[in-house]
Amino acid sequence: MSDDPLHTPRATGGRAPDPLRRGAWMPMREYADDEEVDFAIVGTGAGGGTLACKLAEAGFSVVGLDAGPFWRPLEDFASDETEQHKLYWTDERICDGENPLQLGSNNSGQAVGGSTVHFAMVSLRFRPEWFKSRSQLGYGADWPLDWREMWDYYAEVEQALKISGPVRYPWGPKRPRYPYRAHEVNAAGLVLAKGAEALGIDWTPTPLATVSAPRGLSPPCVYRGMCVIGCSTNAKQSALITWIPRAIAAGAEIRDLAMVGRIETNGRDRVTGLHYHRAGRWRFQKARNVVVAGYAIETPRLLLMSANARYPDGLANSSGLVGKYLMTQANQAVWGLMDEEIRSYKGPPSLAITEHWNYCDDGKDFFGGYAYMSQGPLPTLWATTLASSRGIWGQELVDQMENYNHQVGLKIVGELQPQERNRVTLADEKDRFGLPIARVTYSLCDNDKRLIGHSMKFMRRALEAAGARDIWDQWDDTCHLNGTARMGDDPRTSVVNVDCRSWDIPNLWICDGSVFPTVGGVNPSLTIQAIACRTGDRIRELAARGEL
Ligand SMILES: Cc1cc2nc3c(=O)[nH]c(=O)nc-3n(C[C@H](O)[C@H](O)[C@H](O)COP(=O)(O)OP(=O)(O)OC[C@H]3O[C@@H](n4cnc5c(N)ncnc54)[C@H](O)[C@@H]3O)c2cc1C
Ligand code: SF4
Repeated sequence: MSDDPLHTPRATGGRAPDPLRRGAWMPMREYADDEEVDFAIVGTGAGGGTLACKLAEAGFSVVGLDAGPFWRPLEDFASDETEQHKLYWTDERICDGENPLQLGSNNSGQAVGGSTVHFAMVSLRFRPEWFKSRSQLGYGADWPLDWREMWDYYAEVEQALKISGPVRYPWGPKRPRYPYRAHEVNAAGLVLAKGAEALGIDWTPTPLATVSAPRGLSPPCVYRGMCVIGCSTNAKQSALITWIPRAIAAGAEIRDLAMVGRIETNGRDRVTGLHYHRAGRWRFQKARNVVVAGYAIETPRLLLMSANARYPDGLANSSGLVGKYLMTQANQAVWGLMDEEIRSYKGPPSLAITEHWNYCDDGKDFFGGYAYMSQGPLPTLWATTLASSRGIWGQELVDQMENYNHQVGLKIVGELQPQERNRVTLADEKDRFGLPIARVTYSLCDNDKRLIGHSMKFMRRALEAAGARDIWDQWDDTCHLNGTARMGDDPRTSVVNVDCRSWDIPNLWICDGSVFPTVGGVNPSLTIQAIACRTGDRIRELAARGEL
């Protein structure tokens, strides 16, 4: 049998690849297409992978489908930026608006395990007030969730991923000890520390989803810095090596290279299953419930593509909000040179962080907050950044690359405002499956620009204080996508309720970053996984009460 994970499904014949062992397999239960499973889940990343595990462990029959391959990192991943392009969702999309988004490696993945396979592992909790930002801070929208409940689910995810973090976290309410000790801060992180201390603000080693000591078959992180092209040692605690093996062991089936193109409904406002393309043909999986967890672009795209006579505007869309309130996060940076060698690529890219401007609102001329982190771009990414952001080419680019070991940078993850005009719609063009591609429309608002301006000034001061020279600003970067199927208390102003259940179709659920009403100033995956854990528990409770 061919073993080409990019073109031939691997998880078939009653077994799935074991991502923790070379050439090995895990036994996997399989369901027939005409067997009505309890849950068919579209996408197996931070949201879908986590929920597949929770539901399978609760005893439900689960099929998780992912458009991407099922990797064994130990044998499939190379320490090579070009080779690892295979991890990204690079299908064509149309981007417009005043500030068109750059899509690809920086914001989406296509694999069993989703974007977590190549994410940077920064694992942060929301500031509690963000869950009620409209009523407590005066901007954005309130979440239907309470931060205290989320605090417990954050702890569950931190345990499940064995997050390595500091003994004392400087900001926010008390939290339990991180399961594993913090990683040593590298030279790039120490530059952040020096700047922060000079400016009188707190900093900390970053809580990260890569282990600082052995865990089962995961060795401790070896600080080679390949994290955002996929970790080939399995130190990284991605969904691929944490939730997915647990889900399969509990009886879930995971189908790789399975692109879902349409969700079917009956005449009684219920979904009946989904159409998916695998191994060269379209098939239909019957399901009592469907969960969409395809990331903030593919989730609304699928809901819109599933329009039918009863739902001409797409599924779950009586509010008209499917695809709207798309949010990205600001990812601007300030770069400079240090006299001493830094070699910032050594170790995970963001080993030190400050959340000062997430928790301190003094003197701000904008709503929202931002964290900033130390950086460690790999060489090709760095050369691309110099070319695209500074317009440096040819011999000058070669000369600049000579400074690679001395360059240092600080980068924000900044809260951008939810705006109805930022949205995902369907374009007329079709993809290789004959499905309409997504059109992604994005514009910054004045508040966003003020937040970015504040962060750039502050980070420049921090780099100067740390002793950097030749400092320059990178203005053109964004990251992480969320929104497009927001949760809320009111069916007129939200797509799903607090349990991620669609208001319109009770057996249709959405469980990924799409449900965020606001995005905060931290990386989102811990919150996505915490919501998925909560959703799993709620579904179990609802089922026990006969309310599914
Ligand atoms: C380079 C990079 C660095 C990042 N760093 C961090 C970080 O340090 N910390 C952090 O918290 N977050 C980080 N993130 C963001 C984080 O990875 C995402 O926010 C998170 O994974 C999103 O979860 P999700 O479930 O919404 O989607 P994903 O994890 O992307 O999963 C979606 C899955 O759905 C599949 N899919 C979509 N549509 C279909 C369909 N129609 N049929 C079948 N399958 C489908 C996709 O193939 C994909 O595998 C980073 C992301 C990137 C790209
Ligand atoms: S630095 Fe650590 S987490 Fe990153 S790729 Fe290397 S071993 Fe994996």
